[in-house]
Amino acid sequence: MLNINSIAKGIVIDHITPGKGYEIFKLLELDKASYTVALIMNAQSKKHGKKDIIKIENVIDMDLRVLGILDDSLTINIIENEEIIEKIHVKLPEHVEGFLKCNNPRCISTSERNMVNKFSLVDPTTHLYKCDYCDHLYNVEE
Ligand SMILES: [Zn+2]
Repeated sequence: MLNINSIAKGIVIDHITPGKGYEIFKLLELDKASYTVALIMNAQSKKHGKKDIIKIENVIDMDLRVLGILDDSLTINIIENEEIIEKIHVKLPEHVEGFLKCNNPRCISTSERNMVNKFSLVDPTTHLYKCDYCDHLYNVEE
């Protein structure tokens, strides 16, 4: 059984939809991490049957709420001194900055350096976003 208390300081991403754990693990580049990380797949969950869990024994310098783009059922637990000090329920963000990349080669955000990518949610049911610069559509599910 997973023991959250085994982490003194870090992050536990819980209730990840089964199969998405690996995607998030790669996205956060945890496969290259030099600190302790764990990806637990298909753990038993009382509420939802099965779930994936990621444990990170480190502080990550990014707004993890953006993970709501990939999976809005997960929860983020911030651990300090072996206790959960903050529990974040993510949702599909209305606006995303610097996380998605526009795949329109003519978009100003791909040709100009130092430009922050900006996307806005168009359709929450299909997780469809559009680039704020060129209106190019971006489907996260694909
Ligand atoms: Zn664009």
